[in-house]
Amino acid sequence: MNIQDKILALREELNQHNYNYYVLDTPKISDYEFDQLLKELQELEEAHPEFFDPNSPTQRVGGTVTKIFPTIVHEHRMYSLDNSYSIEDLQDWEKRIEKALDEKVEFVCELKYDGASVSILYENGLLKQAVTRGDGFQGDEITANVKTIRSVPLKLKGDFPEKFYVRGEIILPHKEFERINSERAELGLELYANPRNTASGSLKLQDSGEVAKRKLDCYLYTIVGNNLNFNSQWDMLKAAESFGFKIPKTAKLCSSLQEVLDFIDYWDSERKNLPFEIDGIVVKVNSFAQQEELGHTAKSPRWAMAYKFKAEKAETELLSISYQVGRTGAITPVANLKPVSLAGTIVKRASLHNEDIINKLDVRIGDRVYVEKGGEIIPKIVEVNFDVRQPDSQPVEFIKNCPECGSALIRNEGEAQHFCPNEDECKPQIIGRIEHFVSRKAMDMASIGVETIGLLFDNQLAKDAADLYDLKKEEILPLDRMADKSAQNIMDAIEKSKEIPFEKVLYAIGIRHVGETVAKKLAKEFHSMENLMNATIEELSNTDDVGEKIAWSIQEFFSKEKNRILVNRLKEAGLKMEIGEESKPTSDILVGKTFLFTGALTQFTRDEAQKLVEQNGGKNVSGVSENLNYLIAGEKAGSKLKKAEALGTVKILTEDEFLEMINS
Ligand code: AMP
Ligand code: ZN
Repeated sequence: MNIQDKILALREELNQHNYNYYVLDTPKISDYEFDQLLKELQELEEAHPEFFDPNSPTQRVGGTVTKIFPTIVHEHRMYSLDNSYSIEDLQDWEKRIEKALDEKVEFVCELKYDGASVSILYENGLLKQAVTRGDGFQGDEITANVKTIRSVPLKLKGDFPEKFYVRGEIILPHKEFERINSERAELGLELYANPRNTASGSLKLQDSGEVAKRKLDCYLYTIVGNNLNFNSQWDMLKAAESFGFKIPKTAKLCSSLQEVLDFIDYWDSERKNLPFEIDGIVVKVNSFAQQEELGHTAKSPRWAMAYKFKAEKAETELLSISYQVGRTGAITPVANLKPVSLAGTIVKRASLHNEDIINKLDVRIGDRVYVEKGGEIIPKIVEVNFDVRQPDSQPVEFIKNCPECGSALIRNEGEAQHFCPNEDECKPQIIGRIEHFVSRKAMDMASIGVETIGLLFDNQLAKDAADLYDLKKEEILPLDRMADKSAQNIMDAIEKSKEIPFEKVLYAIGIRHVGETVAKKLAKEFHSMENLMNATIEELSNTDDVGEKIAWSIQEFFSKEKNRILVNRLKEAGLKMEIGEESKPTSDILVGKTFLFTGALTQFTRDEAQKLVEQNGGKNVSGVSENLNYLIAGEKAGSKLKKAEALGTVKILTEDEFLEMINS
């Protein structure tokens, strides 16, 4: 098979697997096998840029950076929906329709996904452009980001119309939302409020590679265009399904309003079991002929109606407020409630976030309050029932001292959170740091749980991560409920952690804002803890993914003597403080220079070439920009070569010239 056929066959195969997995939900190969195929295709495409295809499955992983999202006028306006909040509203709507049409009406009921709406243009079966709803008349082009959503087909199947727009809602499943937030919590970043805002925010991220990581999903609910050959909403959904779109199985064709009401009733209680958020039901007149006859108002179609669920709310009493101290010293007020049943669970606590929120709500101990479970996972207090407030109630006074250690709290200008500054002595901060150190993504000591850390601290055996390496088995054996086996497991885990690579050690020591990915990048760039300690702000912020904020945070960390002592003790304990020999450069010929390889290489593979760069102290970059010094162009180099030539600042080398450079 020639290269082009091979590439086309791989694309076809990957598209089918993608469809099986994300649309049909019945994968036929393992994730690993999928990744292998994708990698094979990626390599072939890189070596043969002349076969580039913007709709190749390799485009899903992202990598395009969009600085400004161009404004695009919608060819067909994106209307809003009229809302109804009660059965009576819906009954009135039906009456109006029947009067206007004077014939029998069928309805299609769909879930009202709570996300961000998009309009996606397909031409000749290929995804051409994706645009946000914007104000309904015009929106922002977000094509590169939408392409990363796996359930959105890049290439259609079946007998599709030549040109049309498909509209749908991009959502973030609960699980992903929680995953993203727990990652943010670990990095000390502010948490996202709900899946909807996070979904629409994600669509505006500049780096589509970041969007790809967020695992957004998309449900499609309509097709618009000229000369389409379906006559009803229901037929259109079926047709869209046959073109390869992910059409929700939950949609239902109803022949009477009663069926519509039953559907609403069912989903009002069933929605809590969905893996994503919905905020209501959309009811649409099925027949397009009838839709046309009914027409639009200035803002919305007369043939559709959204039924909004009431946010689940319950009234209960605020018994007290407690204050939690996190690993970074941040104080979070938590409401203790008289237990109340809400959305299928018993709620006893609700987040109050910070002092400003408490003041804004004007909530007081003893108040009757309304708690709501929205997109957020932890319920929140949304309102106080002022009608029944006790006359003698007093405003909440936010604590002035840490509930754990008594230190006076501080609140930095521009920040909503209070902090306990007593990093060294405040128990939850100490325990939180050790907990982070032993966590799976850090030093991976599964046998050391939170309780054990608490016991070690209470018995003056561990105040910081380095103390773990001084522990003796005889010391931990006498601890509460410590069996010989568990003690041995702990000792083994500690010993084994000495093999953990440097990048994880760097993550484990808990520099603020240095998460897993950043630690990896820093390790690759600076090679050792020592280099990192001596790096300037400028050097730090020149690293991929490391901005000024992170750079300052790193410097601040190492400027503190106690941190330097900690790192030194960890080093003496035998932890890895530099990257492995195999990844270390053997010469410094290419130091300070950046490289990119393009086209078909004949002397070495791309991987080998990039290793050569690293071994000689150089740096590989992924795109052509002012930061690129050398482009090594193999045979049939394409767009990257053109771009580099156009820039004029990039030196262009052949493979031989590159080899000469490192062998001189
Ligand atoms: P609203 O924002 O309240 O005016 O509601 C209109 C929005 O609901 C549309 O712009 C869509 O983004 C969204 N929506 C969610 N699910 C559906 C659906 N099944 N049919 C139509 N619109 C939907
Ligand atoms: Zn404290």
